[in-house]
Amino acid sequence: MEDYIKDYLNHISMDQKKYFSEFIRCEVCESEDHKIVREIVSISRGNYGKLPVVSCKKCGFLFQNPRLNEQFYEDYYKKNYRNLLFKRNDPSKDFINDQLLRGKKLFEFIREFIPKKGKILDVGCSVGCMLIPFIKYGWEAFGTDLDTDYVKYGKERLGLPLEDVKAENMILEENSYDLIIIMGSLEHIYDPNKTLEICKKAAKDNSLIILEGRGEPQSHTRDYFNQNHHRYFSLVSIELMMMKHGWKPFLTTDAMIHGPTRPGAFTSVGKLEKQFKKEDFKKILKNHKENYKEVIKKLDNHDRKFEL
Ligand SMILES: [Zn+2]
Repeated sequence: MEDYIKDYLNHISMDQKKYFSEFIRCEVCESEDHKIVREIVSISRGNYGKLPVVSCKKCGFLFQNPRLNEQFYEDYYKKNYRNLLFKRNDPSKDFINDQLLRGKKLFEFIREFIPKKGKILDVGCSVGCMLIPFIKYGWEAFGTDLDTDYVKYGKERLGLPLEDVKAENMILEENSYDLIIIMGSLEHIYDPNKTLEICKKAAKDNSLIILEGRGEPQSHTRDYFNQNHHRYFSLVSIELMMMKHGWKPFLTTDAMIHGPTRPGAFTSVGKLEKQFKKEDFKKILKNHKENYKEVIKKLDNHDRKFEL
């Protein structure tokens, strides 16, 4: 394991003997060829460390590489994530109100595209409050997250139908969901491809998915890139990730459709075409990708604004 990975594990108080790091292929196009974009990223507020972010030379996708193994993320999110971020294991009132508002805004936005009643799955649901507006309108809902404390809070205190399970281990009824939402979670999930394959099986043909990504940097990239984000979607790559698994995007925007608390966030809505074949994705990739040099240039230009 690289020394900088050991330093990182020490910094976040995780036992370095228990975990290992590995170089991965591009999660969008499977290419091994990449260029380092930034090496130093935010580890915690005001602390920086080496955890390289790369851009795929074939499709431009931005992701953390190398990265730690699956067990690390499971342990980390279960035990450390909220503690590091908020120093507490219960959601704050503000956090709950924000989720509620985001859920209401999302429901208003997506209403015209979905049936009056149906079944919704929220992957990475946290406390689960985004499901509340849907439940109020008669939707059957289910939310999953590996954040044990938040799921427990949503289940026990708010009575929401949630399960404490990581996305890659979800067991879902097949062909049963009318809407799947992954709001700001796809960047944190260990294996987005496995997760989307599970979602695809659980979704009805022609049903919708909504993916939300963090969006363009709002700060210097040494703060934008951080240990908690394993990948950074663009308006192009969020669509590619969706198309790879058979959803056809029909609305992709950086408008703040879920209220004011996620400036710059991308939202992409797609319709599932179950007959979609993996070979078709290769054709899509030819015309729908980013040049890594352009991706890097854009980030360099962005940072220059903060360095003046
Ligand atoms: Zn790629």
